[in-house]
Amino acid sequence: MATGGNFTPENSDELATIGGMIKHGTIVTAYCNMCGASKLANLRKLQEHLGDAGTLIDRHPQCWRKKCDGEVLFHAKPRDRSTPSRPLVTVKGQVARFRRRGDRIDRYKALRNG
Ligand SMILES: [Zn+2]
Repeated sequence: MATGGNFTPENSDELATIGGMIKHGTIVTAYCNMCGASKLANLRKLQEHLGDAGTLIDRHPQCWRKKCDGEVLFHAKPRDRSTPSRPLVTVKGQVARFRRRGDRIDRYKALRNG
């Protein structure tokens, strides 16, 4: 754990900002929670939209597949170490995410019972 110990969204320059991720060569993958699609995130393109100080932590854009209603979760891993890939979420973000998911489930239940 010596090298990867602080590789968490809260305190790592390799994860905190898009500029930092590009500088460190962090490998970022986007996963969709609904259709299961995954792909490497294009950090340069994200940098154009969000800037160097932009972050992917707790950001969940809609799936890139046109017909999918799922939301994306970003995972990141260092290029040069064997540290496992980490989801780019904070505890607070995760709570908000589960709450949203609960809302979705309620919405679907309401549709079924209607
Ligand atoms: Zn999807």
